[in-house]
Amino acid sequence: MSFRDFLLAVGICVGAVYCLSNLQFPHISPLSQTTTPHTIVQKLIINFVNRAADVSCHGPHSQSGHSSIAVLVVSFIWLYFTGSLFFDVTHYFLHKFSKSRYWILRRIGYLHEVHHLYFNRRLKFNDQYLWQNMICELPLELSCQLFGTWMGYLAAQTFSLAGPGLLSQELFYLVLGFEVIRSLVVAILEGRDSNHQSYSTVVPKDPNSFLVGPEYHALHHIDPSAYISSSFRVFDWFLGTSYTLRSRRIIMVGLSRGLREAMAKELQSKESVNCIRELSYDANHEKFIASLANTDIVIIGSEGASCETTVKIIELFKKHYKARPGTLLLPELWYIDSQTTIPFSPSGERSFNNRSRMYYEADDIIYRHVALSGFPSKFLGPYFAAKVMLWWIRRGSRYIAITNPGLGLWLYFNFFYGVQ
Ligand SMILES: [Zn+2]
Ligand SMILES: [Zn+2]
Repeated sequence: MSFRDFLLAVGICVGAVYCLSNLQFPHISPLSQTTTPHTIVQKLIINFVNRAADVSCHGPHSQSGHSSIAVLVVSFIWLYFTGSLFFDVTHYFLHKFSKSRYWILRRIGYLHEVHHLYFNRRLKFNDQYLWQNMICELPLELSCQLFGTWMGYLAAQTFSLAGPGLLSQELFYLVLGFEVIRSLVVAILEGRDSNHQSYSTVVPKDPNSFLVGPEYHALHHIDPSAYISSSFRVFDWFLGTSYTLRSRRIIMVGLSRGLREAMAKELQSKESVNCIRELSYDANHEKFIASLANTDIVIIGSEGASCETTVKIIELFKKHYKARPGTLLLPELWYIDSQTTIPFSPSGERSFNNRSRMYYEADDIIYRHVALSGFPSKFLGPYFAAKVMLWWIRRGSRYIAITNPGLGLWLYFNFFYGVQ
């Protein structure tokens, strides 16, 4: 989750709490006179949905009348979400099983492994496994989704949110039917659905930040231990598997000694990277370019490289980068601004702010911007900063602010909305 998504989520939560705190409860008759936690949750959810329906149908000042459309939409999303979440959990364990030392678990894991044999790490279909994919993977995926949806319906019943006017039994059957039809369509397409695209050069930059699209799922086929989620990214955010650093070649330039050592320790101890090298921008230009050409991720620190030098390094990397034969991943650039201040001046800072936003939007590179300043990074040290940074990167973040909340908010709005 990017910092922008995080702020959005916080905004929604604050808004929801504000709305709920101002709600009356005219629509529901109490099911019982005793107040239990689940009746409170029930009241809050029902009234929030009803209020949303009122606002959408009659404007923000309406107090009466409601549409069941909001209830239907929320119910549908809930049932589909629980179905896909249960499959994601099963998916994760199937990958673990396929590497187990126990024969029986490996055989169970093979039920999903055939899917990766059918659509391999090179993102090519292998028709030899077409029928195994059809017979093993598709029914397995469907049954998990159906079971998860049923669990979601049971959860709604537990909180008395299922019934007439709420999550109806008809809608439950409708979602089950939708999932069955969707699987039939995938079967008719022989598993070549919209999430399984063969990219000939590299996997394009993912335009989504919450839903799983073909770019995201392609990364799961390239690195099956990551990008587990099938429809919504919630499970990957929870596990921290929304990234891959497997076999990647990393260069660090311009980082302070403490941060360089902390990053190297974090990457070497927890990630299966190919190599980590340190580089200094010096006069030996050819050697520098040769090193940049043979790397996948460049981590640039602001302490050892001026804005001008940083731009030069980035442009050299973009120009001379050579992907390893067979790699389908975009190169990455992590810029760690450890001298972040409110950018009133000087002009150099402002100009790199413009550039960093341009790199952030670029399609030919994954740019991650890390604003590192003041408390807590200064007082808790580089190892803390490195851990927090990697924690967010494992959740797919491309803008990370490790600083005090006020400065963090200012920097965030300046980065996304203050740059022309
Ligand atoms: Zn797949
Ligand atoms: Zn898989």
